[in-house]
Amino acid sequence: MPDFKRSIYTLAVSSGHEEPGDLPAPAMPSIVPSVGFVHRSMQETDRALGAAGGSADHPADYIYSRHGAPTQAAFESAIALLEEAEVSLSFSSGMAALHAALLATVVPGNVVLAAKQSYGATHTLLGWAGANLGLHVHFADALDAGTFRQAIEEQRPALVICETLTNPLARVVSLGSVIEAARKVGAKTLIDNTFATPFLITPLTMGADLVAHSATKFINGHGDVTGGVVSGSSELMDKVRTNRRLLGGVMSPFDAYLALRGLRTLPLRMRHACESAMQIARWLVDHPRVSRVFYPGLESDASHEAARAQFRQGAFGAMLAFEIANVDRSETFRLADCFQVIRPVTSLGDVNTLVSHPASSSHRGLSPKQRAAQHITEGTLRLSIGIEDSADIIADLDQALA
Ligand code: PLP
Repeated sequence: MPDFKRSIYTLAVSSGHEEPGDLPAPAMPSIVPSVGFVHRSMQETDRALGAAGGSADHPADYIYSRHGAPTQAAFESAIALLEEAEVSLSFSSGMAALHAALLATVVPGNVVLAAKQSYGATHTLLGWAGANLGLHVHFADALDAGTFRQAIEEQRPALVICETLTNPLARVVSLGSVIEAARKVGAKTLIDNTFATPFLITPLTMGADLVAHSATKFINGHGDVTGGVVSGSSELMDKVRTNRRLLGGVMSPFDAYLALRGLRTLPLRMRHACESAMQIARWLVDHPRVSRVFYPGLESDASHEAARAQFRQGAFGAMLAFEIANVDRSETFRLADCFQVIRPVTSLGDVNTLVSHPASSSHRGLSPKQRAAQHITEGTLRLSIGIEDSADIIADLDQALA
């Protein structure tokens, strides 16, 4: 551990390096694709197998790639520093990470309380776990702190799951209140920090038990890795590690290399994208064709206070949504087809600014009435702000809206 507290900008570039031993260490992490690891003697292999009944934290304990391996460990140690976690473990996707984390915290018969705003596949995973694993899954409105606390008190769950920033409208959950209420009833908390990233908030330092990310998004940031990561205490992460070994959703060494390389610039990318998002949101508010803008950085936004209370000072995230007034789906599609810089990609967190149409993508399965209840209309577009010059994104929005 560092002997003085370093900033996230420093940690992101100075973590995950090898220490020199008998041989000089490569200055940058190596890609180690090997499946197996050779020890000096069978006795050492035997010791590692005993020690590694699933643990591969120490290089001497590497046995087999599904248990843990060096390139992945380099990425994991960097994430652990950023999340202020004892242990982080990487996965082949965000869903693999959430799956392993879920199974580490519950047993059949347990109650799980999740935010009704959870990512669609998380919803589906929980529904599947309810039907097949004997869990009792309930959903409540995590954006209404009182309602969510009450649901925790009434349901007395073993696990509470929510996201820091919700999709697609970038609404901010009062994490402190969720964690405190969960603690009171002895529930564990699993926070999906994908949209916010450790640049904005580190839920473990607020008392959360596990934090998960789709590393596919901002963590890697370049749209070329599918991955996930879970962080928490050594005790809980031992269970996550066992699940990873048995479910098998490990990250590949090539993806771990890219994800660590992407992570180096996470703070810089996020700082730039947060500043741009603020400028773009302010510009959208004044546009005559735009009826609503959802961005927690706007003082008029319903999530502004919750964001100010919890997020890094002056930063409000890289996600925003806006509504074009009085348009149907085809008109919204026509407008999105006019973008020249903004790219229509069904993902987020990339160096490029990405647009999605929630009514026909992430929230397609809901009826128009259900979508309306969540303030999602045919004219709603979600933007994931990248690292371009914000003036160019504004110019692109301007010409498309015209
Ligand atoms: N959590 C959130 C908030 C997401 O947005 C996503 C994917 O979009 C996931 C988890 C799942 O991640 P992956 O697609 O890497 O499995």
